[in-house]
Amino acid sequence: MLVETFTVGMLSTNCYVASCPDTKEAIVIDPGLDFSSEAQPIFEYIEQANLKVKFIVNTHGHSDHVKGNTVFQEKYNVPVCIHPLDIYFIKRDEKGKFPADVMLNEGIFLHCGSETLQVMHTPGHTPGSVCLVGEHFIFTGDTLFAGGIGRTDFPESSMSDMVASLEKLTSLPDYLLVNPGHGETSLIGEEKRTNPFLNNKSETMLF
Ligand SMILES: [Zn+2]
Ligand SMILES: [Zn+2]
Repeated sequence: MLVETFTVGMLSTNCYVASCPDTKEAIVIDPGLDFSSEAQPIFEYIEQANLKVKFIVNTHGHSDHVKGNTVFQEKYNVPVCIHPLDIYFIKRDEKGKFPADVMLNEGIFLHCGSETLQVMHTPGHTPGSVCLVGEHFIFTGDTLFAGGIGRTDFPESSMSDMVASLEKLTSLPDYLLVNPGHGETSLIGEEKRTNPFLNNKSETMLF
C-alpha cells in the first residue's frame, strides 16, 4: 500500500491518500480541510498518480477530520465511511439524512485493490473512534500519536475506554507503521517502548 500524507486545516490534521499500486484504487482518510482550496494539491496528486478513489474514511467524527468530506464526495461521488457512534458529528443533509454510507464496525474490511484495511474500534477520544489496520500500516486517528494520545477531556470522551483501546493497540505487531491523525509517523514497537500512555504513566495530551 502506498501512503501519501497531506497536512490540512488549522489543527494540522494528517489527511492520507492510501492506494494500491497494482490497481490504483485509493482511499482518502480524514479530509479535515478548513478551506476547499486545500483539496487542490490532493486532487492533483490523485490525478497525477492516476488513482481511482473508492472511499472517504473518517477515523472519527471531529470536524478537523471530517470537514472536507463533502468536497471529496462532490468530486468523486464515493461512499463516506465512519463508525456509527460518531455519525452524529457529521451535519445532516437537507433531507435530514446523515451523509455517510458505510458503517465502520469492529472487524469489517475495507478493500482497496489488493490491499485491505481492517477496522479496529478504539473508543476513548470519541465513542466511535477507529483505527485502520493494514499489513504494514495502521491509521490511528486521534487515538494514538507518536509519543502521545488523543484528548479524553471532551464531553464525548472516556478515559476508561481509552485505556482499553490502548491495550488493544499494544497487542499489534511492533513493525506496524503508525500513521496518526496529527504529527509524525512512528512504529507500534517504538510506541510500546517510549509512549508514556502505553507504559501506564501520564503526560500531557496533544489534540
Ligand atoms: Zn479528534
Ligand atoms: Zn484531530
